[in-house]
Amino acid sequence: MTHNTDRNLPLFERAKAVIPGGVNSPVRAFKAVGGTPRFIERAQGAYMWDANGQRFIDYIGSWGPMILGHGHPAVLEAVQKAALEGFSFGAPTEREIELAEAIIALVPSLEMVRLVSSGTEAGMSAIRLARGATGRSKIIKFEGCYHGHADALLVKAGSGLATFGSATSAGVPPEVVQHTVVLEYNNITQLEEAFALHGADLACVMIEPIAGNMNFVRASVPFMRRCRELCSQYGALLVFDEVMNGFRVALGGAQSVYARDIPGFEPDLTVMGKVIGGGMPLAAFGGKRAVMEQMAPLGAVYQAGTLSGNPVATACGLATLRAISQPGFFESLSASTRRLVDGLMAAAAAEGVPFSADCEGGMFGFFLLPELPSNYGQVMRSDGARFNRLFHGLLDRGVYIAPALYEAGFVSAAHTAQDIDDTIAVARDVFKTL
Ligand code: PMP
Repeated sequence: MTHNTDRNLPLFERAKAVIPGGVNSPVRAFKAVGGTPRFIERAQGAYMWDANGQRFIDYIGSWGPMILGHGHPAVLEAVQKAALEGFSFGAPTEREIELAEAIIALVPSLEMVRLVSSGTEAGMSAIRLARGATGRSKIIKFEGCYHGHADALLVKAGSGLATFGSATSAGVPPEVVQHTVVLEYNNITQLEEAFALHGADLACVMIEPIAGNMNFVRASVPFMRRCRELCSQYGALLVFDEVMNGFRVALGGAQSVYARDIPGFEPDLTVMGKVIGGGMPLAAFGGKRAVMEQMAPLGAVYQAGTLSGNPVATACGLATLRAISQPGFFESLSASTRRLVDGLMAAAAAEGVPFSADCEGGMFGFFLLPELPSNYGQVMRSDGARFNRLFHGLLDRGVYIAPALYEAGFVSAAHTAQDIDDTIAVARDVFKTL
């Protein structure tokens, strides 16, 4: 759709004059897909409207947090009430206890959590804790997994970095990443070799269990089982980055999904964000009491935050967690996501487009590849130019998916069967043009 009153372009130009690239997080710039980013004015339920007044069905959901859709009444009410009581005190509040209790009640591996303001902070702090608790320096991460932009973790991360084609970032000295061992996702042989070589020096293995920063790639059950076994055997901590997966793929997070296949399965530390803040800046990390009590002020591992446990953010998070804990919530969300994924696969098949897709709970991914990839190298075989045509075709027709083929998608409880069927019909139209 062309608009003779296009406001996005002048806004983008104005933004570029005062903000690097015109955006405050790289993927928003549409660098991978080209074109002008849409400047969003407001959102409600499953929809967002841009500066031209064009409506989009939103499959980004602020990159995961908006699991209830935008402007959920109970969340709005909680946030408005909290805002009236005060924005920030820098002193403890009862609501922080309530949120911590709510998170712990949903995730059996957690006995204590520390609240922070972003997933990056949570991941960075979890690594420091793992190193402090074990007295070891080395960490294992996997190619294509993104754990925020802390220096030690900016090695072969996915998402925006994948788009920009650089394995790491300028400004990270080699000495800072010398303790970061990067392995191929789902490669058991490499994992065993790394433990044989570095086992005694490994503080932790950090993993996105269902990787959402190389689109949607599941860690296989045998791979996850081996991660758990080797960490236990060598005394390293298994750190689950559930910033994206947590409270999104299932109420108990990805760890509850793996526990279906691996009885008694638990990570040692869990990093959380997105849904627990319901769209406000809030994240957390947690684990067993003995490990978490090594955090300051009890222990020697330092970490702090002016806005940590912010009263408005915790109100938003709590109201969100209460809503998603209602009986049947995840069954219904999963059915919507499954309807979308099945419909897209059928539409692609009907138009002869090579296509594969997967989903869990309210998170999905699809590839213009005949089979689902299992690691970053395979994801990279996707046809980028074709994806870009698909992206713009959908966007022009009012369907907003992530502007890069390395990103997962998100369905919310506000997406109706009609929204999903409309999306599938639009996608079929676009598939015809690929
Ligand atoms: N871990 C994962 C798995 C993520 O997806 C993200 C953000 N997309 C982060 C960490 C970093 O979170 P934040 O952007 O809140 O710093």
